[in-house]
Amino acid sequence: MIVLKCNSAEVQKSRLLHLFQLIPFIGMLILVFSLSACRQAAPPEAENESMLKVVTTIAPLYSFTKNIAGDSVIIENLLPSGVGPHEYSLSPEDARKIADADILIKNGVGLEEWMNKLIGSVNEVRGDSEKLLVVDTSKGVDIIDNDPHIWLSPRNAAIQVRNIEKALRKSDPGNEKLYAKNAADYISRLEELDREIAESVNKWEVKEFVTFHSAFSYFAMDYGLKQSAVIEGSPEAHPSPRHIAEIMNNIRRSGINVIFSEPDASHKIMDSIAGDLGLRMYSLDTLGSGDLGSGWYISRMRENLETLNNALGAKWTR
Ligand SMILES: [Zn+2]
Repeated sequence: MIVLKCNSAEVQKSRLLHLFQLIPFIGMLILVFSLSACRQAAPPEAENESMLKVVTTIAPLYSFTKNIAGDSVIIENLLPSGVGPHEYSLSPEDARKIADADILIKNGVGLEEWMNKLIGSVNEVRGDSEKLLVVDTSKGVDIIDNDPHIWLSPRNAAIQVRNIEKALRKSDPGNEKLYAKNAADYISRLEELDREIAESVNKWEVKEFVTFHSAFSYFAMDYGLKQSAVIEGSPEAHPSPRHIAEIMNNIRRSGINVIFSEPDASHKIMDSIAGDLGLRMYSLDTLGSGDLGSGWYISRMRENLETLNNALGAKWTR
C-alpha cells in the first residue's frame, strides 16, 4: 500500500487547540477542582447526583454508549464535532469532564495518546480509592498494524458495544438488565447494517479504492475490499512529488476510477490527482467526529454505504 502524507484538516484544526498544552496538567486539575467546589454551591439536581457520569472520547463511542444506557447515565463527549481525533489537545473543560467522571470510555489502539498524561494526574488528585474506570473498547478486536479506526467496521463496533455494556453493568448493577437488553437490541441493528454492507459489496464491480487517510482498513478487511492507496494526514510532512507520482502510477495500473475524500479534508491534492487521471471524486466520512446522538453512527455509516454504492456499484469507464 502506498502512503502519501499531507496536512489533513483533522490535523490543522487540532493544532488550534495546542495552546492548551501550555497549561500544566496538575494546575489545570487544581483549577478544575476549585471550579467544581464553586459549582456545588448551587443545589445540584437530585437525580443527577446519583447518576453515573460517563465520558466518551469520540462520537461513535458516544453513540454506542447512548444506545446502551439511554438516559440512565450522564454522558459527555470530549472531541467537538469537526475536530479530528488523532492530534487532539485537551482543554480545561475536558479536564473537568474527566475529573468528574466515574467511567472514561476510549477507543484504544493508541488513538487517545493525548489523554494518557491527564488520566495519571486525575488518579493522583483523586487518590487510589476513587480510581477512574477506563474502558478500552478495542479489547477483543483483531488489530491491523496499530490502526485505530476500528469503529468503521460494524463488526468491530459490536465488540466495542459489548465492552461498554460490560463496564456499565459492573459499575451500575441496578440497571444491569436494561443495559443488557439495550446492548443486544443495538447489536442486532449493527448486524443488520453489516448484512446490508455485505450484500452491497457483492454487487460492486470494483473492489479497490483510494482514500484520503488510512481509515478504512477494517472496513476493507471485513468486506473483501482493498484500500489500495492512501493520502494520509500527518503533521510533519507535505506530500512529495515522488509520492504523488507513485500514487498516480498505482491508480493507473490498478484501473481504479474513483477516489474518496473526506468532509473535512483539504481537497487540493485529491482534486489534482482526480483531474489528471479523470477520476470521479466522492466523500466518505471517517466518523472520527460528528453529531452526538444515538442514531448518528448507524445513519452516517448508511450514508457512507450509499456513497460507496454510487461510486463502486455503477458501471462506467474512465
Ligand atoms: Zn482517522
